Amino acid sequence: MEKKCILMFSGGLDSRLALKIMQEQGFEIISLFFRLPFGEGCCNENCSFNFSQLEGVKLKIIDCTKGELLKEYLEVLKHPKFGRGAGINPCIDCRIFMFRKAKEFADEQGVELIVSGEVLGERPMSQHKKAMSIVEEESGLKGRLLRPLSAKLLPETNAEKKGFVARDKLYDIRGRRRTKQIELAEKFNISYPNPAGGCLLCEKALKKRFLVLLKYDLINEEALELTKIGRHFFIDECWFVVARNENECKIIEKHENVIISDKGKPAVYYHCKDKEQVAKELQEAYSKESSPGLRKKFSKFIL
Ligand code: SF4
Repeated sequence: MEKKCILMFSGGLDSRLALKIMQEQGFEIISLFFRLPFGEGCCNENCSFNFSQLEGVKLKIIDCTKGELLKEYLEVLKHPKFGRGAGINPCIDCRIFMFRKAKEFADEQGVELIVSGEVLGERPMSQHKKAMSIVEEESGLKGRLLRPLSAKLLPETNAEKKGFVARDKLYDIRGRRRTKQIELAEKFNISYPNPAGGCLLCEKALKKRFLVLLKYDLINEEALELTKIGRHFFIDECWFVVARNENECKIIEKHENVIISDKGKPAVYYHCKDKEQVAKELQEAYSKESSPGLRKKFSKFIL
């Protein structure tokens, strides 16, 4: 076995540590960053890119915000096999999706070992023992997936059994407190971003919106950016997005079926061509001059 591995790299503290641990074990690393349609959590792409560059590691970006990958991801969102969290987040299925893609990439590259910075018990839905083993099995990575931060609490991987990875130099971190990770970051002398919950799918307040948009197949490459901005309404099976500020007006105005902004009146997107009149009413209701009474008419349609 070549000392080469593919690292699932979000750019957050855990994946940075995983990178350092594998480097310490003499591995050549290719890190994989998943650009996900609704945000990925910890770190952004630039920050991941900078860290990888600093560490001399290649960064491959898997872009799931367009084309076939977006379609596949939306299917996962629509029909999760392993349930959802507090929002519509299908964390176990989402991770299976990413690990399957990582496996495809690893197989293409002829790399056996996949590494992830997951920590046992750190996230309630996807990082308990059973969920971690489901992810491993369902993505076809049994024995090939190493989680160096919690490895001593998990079954041995093939790489450990064959002696390519020294198990005694791996860790037994468990739980949500990050004390041990912070100590390790000091040991490795690395910086790291603060954790930030960046996945919109976890937002309870957006659950209804996403469920409706998915049910009616309204999310696609073009409309993706609209799902994340503005006020949303669903009236007679038509989806409307009303801008809340100038920036959102600009985004909305790039699309078709739009009432453009005008002197204190927000831009409005409507997805059914024949609903222009309703869009104009929404624009009036949400203009600066409007009254709560005008808006009340639309409150039951809010997504
Ligand atoms: S929070 Fe869950 S659904 Fe969102 S990116 Fe992470 S694993 Fe996927």
